[in-house]
Amino acid sequence: MQTITLIYGDGIGKEVIASAKAIVEASGANVDWEVHEAGAEACDKYGKPIDDAVIASIAQNGVALKGPTATPIGKGFRSVNVEIRKRLDLYVNLRPLRSFDGVKSLYENIDLTIVRENTEGLYIGIEKQVDENRAEATKVITRQASERIVNYAFDYATKMGKQKVTAIHKANIMKLTDGLFLNCAKEVAKKYPHIAFNDKIIDAACMDLVLNPYGYDVLVAPNLYGDIISDLGSALVGGLGVAPGANIGEKAAVFEAVHGSAPDIAGKDIANPTSAILSSAMMLKHIGMEQEGKRIEDAVAVCFANGQMTGELGGTLGCKAFTNAVIQNMK
Ligand code: NAD
Repeated sequence: MQTITLIYGDGIGKEVIASAKAIVEASGANVDWEVHEAGAEACDKYGKPIDDAVIASIAQNGVALKGPTATPIGKGFRSVNVEIRKRLDLYVNLRPLRSFDGVKSLYENIDLTIVRENTEGLYIGIEKQVDENRAEATKVITRQASERIVNYAFDYATKMGKQKVTAIHKANIMKLTDGLFLNCAKEVAKKYPHIAFNDKIIDAACMDLVLNPYGYDVLVAPNLYGDIISDLGSALVGGLGVAPGANIGEKAAVFEAVHGSAPDIAGKDIANPTSAILSSAMMLKHIGMEQEGKRIEDAVAVCFANGQMTGELGGTLGCKAFTNAVIQNMK
C-alpha cells in the first residue's frame, strides 16, 4: 500500500482532483490518501498558503497528487508551487504532450516531452523595487542545476527510446546566464552519442513548434522558457485540459496538471479533468504501478476515440460524467 499526499488546491482543483482520485481507486491501484490543504483558500482559512506539515507529508510519502493553487496577490507570499519545488528540490518539471485520436488539435500524432528546470532561472523570487518607476528581478543559472536537468533529459530520452534532445535558450542575448546553460547542455550531450542534440533560441522555437512540431522530440529548457513552451505545446494537442505534468526530485515527486485553478469555470462541473487524470497515471507509473497507470491512459484514449469528452474539447460531458465514462471504460 502506497500513501499519497493529496492536495485539492483552489478553483477547479476540487473537481479535477476528485475525478483523478476516483479513477485511481477504480484502476485497482493499492493506495491510500493523506489529504492536505494549500493555496489561496487555505491562506484565507489558516493565514498562510502552505503549512510545513504539507511539505513534511510529501517528504515522508515521497509522492503527491496536487490540484492547481492560486497565489494570494499582494500579501507577500511565495507561490505554493515554487515553495514545494524549492523545499523538496523537485528539480525536474516533466510535461509530456501527446495527441489523442478524436481530440481536435492543430496536429495529429504529436509525441513531445518538455523537461523544464524547476528550481532556478528567473523564478527564484528575488525581485527588488528600486523606486516607484523601476523594479528588478534576479536570474540565476548554475552549472550544477543546468547539468542535472540536461542529464535528466538525456536519461529520459534514452529510457523512453526518444531520438533527439533540443536545448532551448536565449544565449545570444543573455550571454552569461543562458550561455552557461547552453554550454552545460553541449557538454552533457557528448556523453550521449546515441541521442541527437541541437539547440534553439526560445523565440524561434516558439514559432517553429507551431509550424513544425514534428522536428522536436525532447525539449530541455531553463525555468521561464520551459513554462512558456509547456502552455504553447499543450495547444498542439488540444489545450491545457489534456496536458499532464510532474515535478520530480531525488526523494519526492509531485504530480499536477499544467493548467491553473481556472476561477472562471470553477464549481460549474465543466472543467476537463483529463490533465489531472493523466498526471495521476504518470504518478502510478512513477511508483511502480505501471499496469494501473496504463489502464487509466488507455481508458482516457478510448473515451476520446468514442467522442466522450468535455465541452471545451467539443464534447457534451461535464467533469463528473467524463469521470464516470473513464471508469466505465476501465471495466
Ligand atoms: P488557468 O490555466 O487557470 O486558465 C486559463 C484558461 O484555460 C481559462 O480560460 C480556463 O477556464 C481554461 N482552463 C484551464 N484549465 C482548464 C480545464 N481543466 N478545463 C477547461 N478549461 C480550462 O490560468 P490562469 O487563469 O492564468 O490562472 C488562474 C490561477 O491559477 C492563477 O492564480 C495562477 O497563479 C494559478 N495557476 C496555478 C498553477 C498550478 O498550481 N500548477 C498553474 C498555472 C496557474
